[in-house]
Amino acid sequence: MATIYYDRDADLSLIRAKKVGIVGYGSQGHAHALNLRDSGVEVRVGVHPGSRRAGAARAAGLPVGSVEEIAAWCDVLMVLAPDTAQAKIYRDWIAPHFEGKAPGAKTLLFAHGFNIHYKTIEPPASVDVGLIAPKAPGHRVRETYAEGGGVPGLIAVREGSRPEVKALVLSYAAAMGNTRAGVIETTFSEETETDLFGEQAVLCGGASALIQAGFQTLVDAGYQPEVAYFECLHELKLIVDLMYRGGLKYMRFSVSDTAEWGDYVAGDKVIGAESKAAMKQLLADIQSGAFAREWIAENETGRAKFLAARRAGANAPIEAVGAKLRKMMPFLDPIEVDPDGSQP
Ligand code: NAP
Repeated sequence: MATIYYDRDADLSLIRAKKVGIVGYGSQGHAHALNLRDSGVEVRVGVHPGSRRAGAARAAGLPVGSVEEIAAWCDVLMVLAPDTAQAKIYRDWIAPHFEGKAPGAKTLLFAHGFNIHYKTIEPPASVDVGLIAPKAPGHRVRETYAEGGGVPGLIAVREGSRPEVKALVLSYAAAMGNTRAGVIETTFSEETETDLFGEQAVLCGGASALIQAGFQTLVDAGYQPEVAYFECLHELKLIVDLMYRGGLKYMRFSVSDTAEWGDYVAGDKVIGAESKAAMKQLLADIQSGAFAREWIAENETGRAKFLAARRAGANAPIEAVGAKLRKMMPFLDPIEVDPDGSQP
């Protein structure tokens, strides 16, 4: 059984007694900085030269400095830059202010275990290392906190940590609002491997491929792309909302008996033995470090394959149909991003 902690298990005064630095002001960075500040924690934001978001942090009233300045100033540093940039950030700007200090003087935190698990960052034992991974995109982390709630999260400490580290990590999770919903205790390896597997097999890779294959099957058979879009993408949200509230069982309760029967007889044909074997292989590559090595190498060699895949995805037929239909549905709050991935 998982160990789950709630507000009553956390002592907010621990993190309120620390100076907390946040590296990056992106999706997670802005949510951490603002939630901590609103929970009475002293926070500063560390940005890189040429940062696009430094202005937004200043506009929110947060003190901003270079990553080095913030690393030198803080007791606790949460690293919320992209995972592939973190090793260099640590080496160049954080390590000089963290290594060689008294044990426990500095705490390094992450929202995803990638760099600690795959050992691209290896702080000495004198640096305390922890993980607080909110289980939601950053904008939801902030919105939910501001509404008085919180998103659930995962917490972990590096193996062999002093007991005080877990109490501090829990205190940080409380200031983020995560313990309002509950945080599950995990390890760096479990968080990293399950997170990568979930996004590859189900949430991003699996879901995108399923949507596109369904759309393409209908269009190739001569059906209107607009109808195919509604069937294979738009309605997925409505189905997932039902699952989110009451599990698969509630979704099946809510859809027609015909849809429910279709679910039972078709699902295993779509996700058959071949797909299940592919999932096992994805997991094996994550566990062995093969996926991480390939992704790190892709980043170190200019990201050509990544950028080509991003452009091809943005130019897929389903995207043009979807953009046109979404414009006619302002209540969806439609949003368009550039193929190069820049923010709207
Ligand atoms: P993000 O939205 O891409 O934001 C990254 C931030 O880091 C930006 O403010 C960016 O600067 C800054 N940055 C980029 N390169 C930098 C560098 N070399 N030095 C210092 N700062 C740099 O990232 P994110 O999605 O929030 O992810 C941050 C961490 O949270 C990752 O470990 C990720 O795995 C984890 N996480 C993310 C989510 C999520 O929902 N996104 C969920 C759970 C965990 P500018 O834009 O200012 O130029």
